[in-house]
Amino acid sequence: MIIHMAKNSTKEQRQAVFDRIGSCGLKHEVIHGSTGIDVIGILGDTSSVEESFFAELGGVARVTRVTKPYRRVFRKVPSDSKIVRVGDLEIGGRDLVVMAGPCSVESEQQLMTIAAYVAGCGIKVLRGGAYKPRTSPYSFSGLGLEGLKLLARAREKHGLKIITEATGLHRHATKDGVMEEKNVLENVIEYADIVQVGARNMKSYGFLQEVARLTREKKIPILLKRGESSTIEDFLLAAEHIVIAGNPNVILCLRGIRTFEDTGFQRYTPDIGAIAVLKRECNLPVFFDPSHSTGYRENVHAVSMAAVAAGADGLLIETHNDPANALCDGEQSVTSEQLAKIKKDADLLRTCGICSN
Ligand code: PEP
Ligand code: MN
Repeated sequence: MIIHMAKNSTKEQRQAVFDRIGSCGLKHEVIHGSTGIDVIGILGDTSSVEESFFAELGGVARVTRVTKPYRRVFRKVPSDSKIVRVGDLEIGGRDLVVMAGPCSVESEQQLMTIAAYVAGCGIKVLRGGAYKPRTSPYSFSGLGLEGLKLLARAREKHGLKIITEATGLHRHATKDGVMEEKNVLENVIEYADIVQVGARNMKSYGFLQEVARLTREKKIPILLKRGESSTIEDFLLAAEHIVIAGNPNVILCLRGIRTFEDTGFQRYTPDIGAIAVLKRECNLPVFFDPSHSTGYRENVHAVSMAAVAAGADGLLIETHNDPANALCDGEQSVTSEQLAKIKKDADLLRTCGICSN
């Protein structure tokens, strides 16, 4: 942290700054500028000290932080990329990783049909929500534990990994109104290979810590989605919360942000540029969700290609065997044919040598 003193600051004011630095257990160094303005550099770990702690002192003109507030996930050198492992699968390595499946698990027949064609495309990870965070309390909120069991069956049958969302620490009521015994996070952790934390929970810091605490021993990776109105810095700091709480296996997933755009054309605005920023700032794998970010299946191929070209390590795609009758997000779910083309084209693009990664 650097403290710029005002031109007319006094000796006593400078001394008060030194004293305050000392009171934090930190050291300082003074640089006497040719303009007559002193600059005081604080030496040591300032991550828990706020800029305002010094900015409020008399004679201080400005305080600037030179270290990143997200110290753990910060990319220290260009080659410092973290690879997240799920069994034999490497995420953030040489190969592009596609995760695909329905928005929500609806029935055995639906999930098994989708799992079969997902695996048939050469995709290794099946997505599917057993618990759905719905804007309307009247919408389908998922099959719960029954959905998790179906995902586990699809994993077994097709040799897939499964990713599913933990929506919180609440208990889920089944369609008959009976409360499940364990809370959602506890159930998800028992079944998932990767735990998804959705956009709505990105800023639930207590929940992030609990997710990290319960997944760290089993080394279950967490895919963290960007909040729809969160800044990139907020997103990185949310990942930092998880890492500090003990689970370094975090995958970042962009999913579109809220702008002035009309939802008739795009559900959100695909934040493609953020891929380049995240890859530069941080060492975690970066995924892109072309389904929620666009909202319409016609746009999913184009945005998938853009994300891969911009350097994404993977894609999280919604697909459905009968999109017109899907219980959730049918309009943005691609068909099996569209999924196969996206996977083929994305792999081609990734290996052609012109992507930014
Ligand atoms: C999802 O991936 O199913 C989902 C609910 O996404 P988001 O948290 O990005 O809205
Ligand atoms: Mn969805």
